[in-house]
Amino acid sequence: MGGGLSIVLLLWLGACQGPFSEDVVDGVRHLSAQISSNPSGTARVRVSVEEGEQAMLSTASVAPPNKVHFRSLYGPHDTEAFLSAEWSGSIYSKTNGGFIATTTTLNWPVLASDVPLSPGRWIFELGVVDEAQRYIGQPVDFELLLKEDPELDGGSLEVALIFADDLDRDEALAGAVDGAKAIWQALYAQVGIEVSFESYAYDGAPLAPPAFGGEPGYVGIAAETPIRSINLVFSEEIDGYSDILGISGDIPGPLVPSARSAVQLSTLLAAGPDGIYDAEDVRLLAETMAHETAHFLGLFHPVEREGWSEYDVLQDTDECDREPQCIQRLGRNLMFPFPVCGIMTCTPQDELTVEQGEILNRYTGVR
Ligand SMILES: [Zn+2]
Repeated sequence: MGGGLSIVLLLWLGACQGPFSEDVVDGVRHLSAQISSNPSGTARVRVSVEEGEQAMLSTASVAPPNKVHFRSLYGPHDTEAFLSAEWSGSIYSKTNGGFIATTTTLNWPVLASDVPLSPGRWIFELGVVDEAQRYIGQPVDFELLLKEDPELDGGSLEVALIFADDLDRDEALAGAVDGAKAIWQALYAQVGIEVSFESYAYDGAPLAPPAFGGEPGYVGIAAETPIRSINLVFSEEIDGYSDILGISGDIPGPLVPSARSAVQLSTLLAAGPDGIYDAEDVRLLAETMAHETAHFLGLFHPVEREGWSEYDVLQDTDECDREPQCIQRLGRNLMFPFPVCGIMTCTPQDELTVEQGEILNRYTGVR
């Protein structure tokens, strides 16, 4: 009996831990492993967090049509840090990492009030399902980036501006983006984040939106830019969503190359109906760039417009349950779900709360 038990235990441990390859890239420790879920759909990954590491970004991917999610995360001494079940039916959003997808990403900690990243053994538990949502045994690509960042109340963020659809030749756009950069820098400076930019031209085929995990073009783009930069792609329009200004790969988004490793913006909408960038268009462009990138760094809308009954998890973004009240209380926040416009102008949406800043600064891409 005792012998049988120890054999089972050995097999169990064997199934838990992938052989990691480890390197340091762009100032973060990068661990990667190919692991497998067991026949009941569970994969466990143990990692050793080192002294001085303050935040980590983990990304798990499976081959479509299968899907994976972060079911739970435990810190040293089996401290429960994250349980996806707590959020599955909640009206509050904290991270998309708990929801199934082909590629899913979890940044930890999310909030200043979360279990902090202390040195020792951390365990990720992943769940893997097939397209009928039955648990299955499947290979899983697991990647983890860990940052040392003693000051989680400020830092810097590198943005790769990628011009697709020959937009690198559009001089009006270049001028508008230059103006927008400065406005965005002032916006993030409120929460202690200094934004810097590099520009790239992308000459591949038109890119599908990054939010659904089906566009391989972003894998190549993310492989060409520094791992800690956010890829912000300007396309003529967002394929299939001609009325939206921009879309983020995920909340939070992955930094390792994947089909979701980008934010995409529509330049047709940014220029407005007259096709000319006036000061108002430039400000809206800046707010869209900053808003979509903030999704990528982990921020949700303070309230969702569908029903006005779903909220972010933060204490310092007001709640509301009707459109006029929500506009009045939250319409100036950067993360309000849409621009609030009158006949001539739109309300500046340039406010970020302290807790929104705490999330942004915890994102592993912010150094
Ligand atoms: Zn949004």
